[in-house]
Amino acid sequence: MAPILEVDNLSKMYEGLTAVRDLSFTVEKGDIVGLIGPNGAGKTTTFEVITGFQVASAGRVVFNGTDCTGRLPHDIVRLGLGRTFQASQPFPLFSALENVKVAAFLHHPTRRAAEQKAWEVLKRVNLASKAHFLAKTLTLADNKRLEIARALATGAEMILLDEAMAGLTPVEADEAIEFILSLNREDGVTFLVIEHVMQIISSISKRILVLNHGEKIAEGTPDVVLRNPRVVKAYLGDEAILG
Ligand code: ATP
Repeated sequence: MAPILEVDNLSKMYEGLTAVRDLSFTVEKGDIVGLIGPNGAGKTTTFEVITGFQVASAGRVVFNGTDCTGRLPHDIVRLGLGRTFQASQPFPLFSALENVKVAAFLHHPTRRAAEQKAWEVLKRVNLASKAHFLAKTLTLADNKRLEIARALATGAEMILLDEAMAGLTPVEADEAIEFILSLNREDGVTFLVIEHVMQIISSISKRILVLNHGEKIAEGTPDVVLRNPRVVKAYLGDEAILG
């Protein structure tokens, strides 16, 4: 079966700085792949280019067999590729329900159908009891869940999660991990996940890609990748290897 996401020789330059260089990888349908790397490695830029928020300098992105290189974000989301942002971006003065409803309008153009879809998603993400809370009054953990709900309401088959667990307490992070695993297992959602906490990334990912200075330096299962000397060196410097 063809991969759900194919990234071929992708590069992104910002005025002389190469944020992503010649990056190639694939994600299979039903997979959870971790994308890690030190600060500034190019992880978020990779997400930005895949989802059309930035234009690639070179290379190609194919989602579900459709070449989406150079397409705009609203076109890409329509294909079933959703994302969340490092800093949650809900409409703060809209309720949780309204936030999800806005996303649901993409494939449910009538108010009634969009609202029905929004309720369905809020129940799935366990936020139905807070449906009428304004987004700005929700906790960080609930706001992160709302971000995922909005992606699900667009009908996303695959979601790119940008630090969806950052800032959560250990208990909240465990709940978020369980929730993502259940969306993968029960709803078949494919994930590409940026995350800094190694314990989280290794417990959630079937496979990990490591970026450093915009280039892929390792790829494989968590236990192999996290012991790779190039990866250890990228995070901790030469001393980690020598010591
Ligand atoms: P972090 O873990 O800190 O979020 P990251 O791996 O996501 O880092 P990026 O945010 O993709 O890294 O940044 C990669 C490089 O590109 C950095 O040097 C950053 O300063 C630069 N960069 C990112 N976005 C822009 C932009 N819009 N304009 C110019 N330079 C940018």
